[in-house]
Amino acid sequence: MGTIDGLPPLREVIRAHDLVAKKQLGQNFLLDLNLTAKIARSAGDLSACDVLEVGPGPGGLTRGLLAEGARRVVAVEKDARCLPALAEIAAAYPGRLEVVQADALELDLAAHLTPPVKIVANLPYNVGTELLIRWLSPKVWPPIWSSLTLMFQKEVAERIVAKPRTDHYGRLALLAQWRCNAAIVMTLPPEAFTPAPKVHSAVVHLTALPQPRFPCDFGVLQRVTAMAFNQRRKMLRSSLKGLRPDIEAVLESVSIPPTARAEEIGLEQFCALARAVQAA
Ligand code: SAM
Repeated sequence: MGTIDGLPPLREVIRAHDLVAKKQLGQNFLLDLNLTAKIARSAGDLSACDVLEVGPGPGGLTRGLLAEGARRVVAVEKDARCLPALAEIAAAYPGRLEVVQADALELDLAAHLTPPVKIVANLPYNVGTELLIRWLSPKVWPPIWSSLTLMFQKEVAERIVAKPRTDHYGRLALLAQWRCNAAIVMTLPPEAFTPAPKVHSAVVHLTALPQPRFPCDFGVLQRVTAMAFNQRRKMLRSSLKGLRPDIEAVLESVSIPPTARAEEIGLEQFCALARAVQAA
């Protein structure tokens, strides 16, 4: 059976280039090109966008993005073994794929991208959350990207979209939902990947809001939520004690009972608390 783009099936590509998966690089590959095209489609219309893909590996999602019409894909891969396979894709889509061999954590992405930009990636599990926090925390908002369509372990995805008074609610939900709309758009079983990971995965789609939902400083919000959820079962007057000696009064000034626990407090109240902490 032919592939979506006339290039060889991914199993052949992996065999030809001897791409034995490395656990330390979070390599769990997607080999079903219909599935990678479906993930690409969940990012919306790509025809007018530069797409940043972190960790293309043998190129399954890269091929999905290109076949779905992305104007241009910039693919950042740390593992040099993947470069020959990616070069074959670049040759099949002249001028539309730029491959950058680099650690995504160390690269100035804006230097490679022309807006509008969408980020779409099956992220390496070991740096996924760190990359998300970076993309959520540029100095200037709105950011260079208009949406993020990202594969995470399902448990991490649930932490991004969680609501108050649920088990997964915490710092990640607050930071993501402060500046974005976030929803899980797809879940995948371990067998969708080669090798199969131990856990289920999910794709989260985040769209950048024109401005944060409520005013406050990102750094202060990050500090307050990190402390509040570090001891999530404790009352806020004790988990936030280290922030300010008069924390009870600060909490009361924004109508948060000092005896409340972090998981009971919504985004608007956390933003009010961040403003009060900064002003006090
Ligand atoms: N996109 C491919 C797919 O869906 O089949 C591969 C996804 S695999 C989960 C993660 C990829 O990220 C691997 O190719 C790995 O080599 C790459 N990677 C790991 N750490 C990286 C980093 N810090 N910067 C860039 N790429 C990285």
